[in-house]
Amino acid sequence: MAFGWIDEQARARRRAGLVRVLRPRPAQSPLLDLASNDYLGLARHPEVAEGAARAARTWGGGATGSRLVTGTTELHTALERELADFCGFEAALVLSSGYAANLAAVTSLAPYGSLVVSDAQNHASLIDGCRLARGTTQVVAHAEPDAVRKALATHDGPAIAVSDTVFSVDGDAAPLTALAEACRERRAGLVVDDAHGLGVLGPGGRGAPHAAGLAGRDDVVATVTLSKSLGAQGGAVLGPARVIDHLVNTARTFVFDTGLAPAAAGAALAALTLLRREPERAARARAVAADLHTRLTAAGLWAVRPDAAVVSVRADSPEEAVRWAAACRTAGLSVGCFRPPSVPDGVSRLRLTGRADLSGSDIERAVRVIGETRP
Ligand code: PMP
Repeated sequence: MAFGWIDEQARARRRAGLVRVLRPRPAQSPLLDLASNDYLGLARHPEVAEGAARAARTWGGGATGSRLVTGTTELHTALERELADFCGFEAALVLSSGYAANLAAVTSLAPYGSLVVSDAQNHASLIDGCRLARGTTQVVAHAEPDAVRKALATHDGPAIAVSDTVFSVDGDAAPLTALAEACRERRAGLVVDDAHGLGVLGPGGRGAPHAAGLAGRDDVVATVTLSKSLGAQGGAVLGPARVIDHLVNTARTFVFDTGLAPAAAGAALAALTLLRREPERAARARAVAADLHTRLTAAGLWAVRPDAAVVSVRADSPEEAVRWAAACRTAGLSVGCFRPPSVPDGVSRLRLTGRADLSGSDIERAVRVIGETRP
C-alpha cells in the first residue's frame, strides 16, 4: 500500500505519547499566552492590524507574482529601506518567511568549493540552508568561537560561519563579537539569524548585530523574521548592498517564490513605526523575561538565564514536558513544549516568552501555575 510505511511511525509516536496535534486558537483565547513569539505584543495592535488592512485594500490579498515579475510593490521597497535603516545595514531584501530568508542567505553565500561552519544548535532553517548549499558544512560545538576559528583554518577559499544570535529553545545569546573576530581573521563572512533578537535586543530593539556593533560591516549578513516581535509575517536578509544584489540574482527562495503578501508588508511597516515611537517595548520584554527567570528559580525550577525574551525551563523527559504543558493549559496557561525530534535527545523544555505586554500579576500567575503543575 502506498504510504503504508508511515503507519508504523505513527504507531510508535502514539506509543510514546508524542503525537503532535494542531489546535486552532480562538480569536479571544481565555489562556494566558506565554507560548507565542509575539514578544512586543504587536500582533494584535490596532495600528499593525490597520497597516495590514490598508495594504490589502490598496494592493490586494496577494503579491500576484514573484518579486522579479509582478510581486514587488512600493510597500516591499519601503519595508526594505526601513528594515535596513532601523537595524543599521546598507540594504535589505524581503522574502516570504524567515525560513526562506535563511535558505536564501546560506545557499547563495556557500557555492561549490566553499565551507560553511555551523553552530550545533542552529535553527532548523539554517540547518536546511546548509543541507541545500553546494558548499561543505562543518558543524561545530555550540557557542564556541575557537571551534569556528579552527574549522575555518582547515579551508582555503570562500567560507562563512552561521549562527543564531539568540538560540530559539534555550534563549541564550551567541558570542557575536568573538565570532566576527574569528571570521575576520580568515576573511570569512558571518551570517547570523536574528529572529529572536530583532525588536528585543539593542537600543529600541534594533537587534543583536546592532547591539554588538556589527551592523553595517562589509563581512556581516543578518537574517530576520517579521513574524515574531513585529507581529506580522515574512522574513528579510540584511547586509552590504553587493550581497543583497547577489541574492536578488541567485537565491532560489527569492527568485522562485511569490512575493510577500502586501498585508504582511504593511503590518511589518506599521510595527516598525510603532517600535521607533515606543522604543521602551524592547527593554520591557527583556525585563519580563528576567523577572520570569528570577521567580522560576526562586520557586526551585531550573531555567536558563535569558539573554533576550525566551525563558527555557528544563523538563526531565519528553513525556514530562508533554504532561506539564498540558497541565498548564488546563490551568489556563499556554506554554511552548519542546522535545525530540524538534530538539536533541535529552533536551526537553517548557519554552516561555517574556512578552512586553505581560503585567506583574500575569508573571506571578504564570510562575505559580508552572510550579504547581509540574508532574
Ligand atoms: N530562525 C529562527 C531562529 C526561528 O526561531 C524561526 C521561527 N521559528 C525562523 C528562523 C523562521 O522564521 P519564520 O517563522 O518567519 O519562517
